[in-house]
Amino acid sequence: MCILHTADFHHNHGWFDWLIAQQTKFDLLVLAGDLLDMRASGRQYPLSTQVKEVREKLAALKTPAAICTGNHDIWMTNPIATDVWAEGGWLKNCRRENLWIDGDIFKFMDEHIAVVKHNTDRWPARASIVVVHNPPKNLKTSVNACNKIDFGSHDVARNLVQNRPDFVLCGHVHNPVAWMDSWENTTVLNPGFGTGPVPNHIIIDTESCEIIRVIAETKKHNQKTRRFSLTPVCPALSRRKTDHNHLIIRKIRNSIYWK
Ligand SMILES: [Zn+2]
Ligand SMILES: [Zn+2]
Repeated sequence: MCILHTADFHHNHGWFDWLIAQQTKFDLLVLAGDLLDMRASGRQYPLSTQVKEVREKLAALKTPAAICTGNHDIWMTNPIATDVWAEGGWLKNCRRENLWIDGDIFKFMDEHIAVVKHNTDRWPARASIVVVHNPPKNLKTSVNACNKIDFGSHDVARNLVQNRPDFVLCGHVHNPVAWMDSWENTTVLNPGFGTGPVPNHIIIDTESCEIIRVIAETKKHNQKTRRFSLTPVCPALSRRKTDHNHLIIRKIRNSIYWK
């Protein structure tokens, strides 16, 4: 299975449109939380507007997708007013065939995949792939590269140790020290947050465990023009390596960007 793993779109319309345009190239899409942006939730983009727009984007996804909430996607229920979108209700309400969200566990192409709501204490057991917003604490995927502060979650780390999935696909830390780290046999991935017109993303082939991260950056070329580049980071291999990975990676590369 070929998975496209992204996270932290933060209400970026262009990135949602890119995801919609790319979707048919993958078996499964993963959006690991922070679809909305609380920082922009003032007058210009009230959360109700963001929710409406993001729900329209999600409705355009035809490829199977697993999407969890992040800290920007959840607000508390207002005790004096009905708010059906609170507590991640706006995303929960998007659940349909081939769109799995918070709390779902499903079997897909020989993998058991769990989608975990933000700040959930316990994961479902036996998942081989877990989609959760916060990375586990004490790995490089949760440490901010600028200030070296670890923004990872103790709960996620505890669940990782108890359940030992093959992959934990997360987001949240926008500029992690490393986009990939591992604990024993579990590979943890965090694509990070880029500055280009397409989101940073990770492509995972679960059979060969060939993994590519693509960084999308807009750099100032000179004072006036901006240059955009997609940089594939060297493919990494996890423990499920098999002999045919090189063929598969070539296939992935050719079919998606490198033709
Ligand atoms: Zn974020
Ligand atoms: Zn976050």
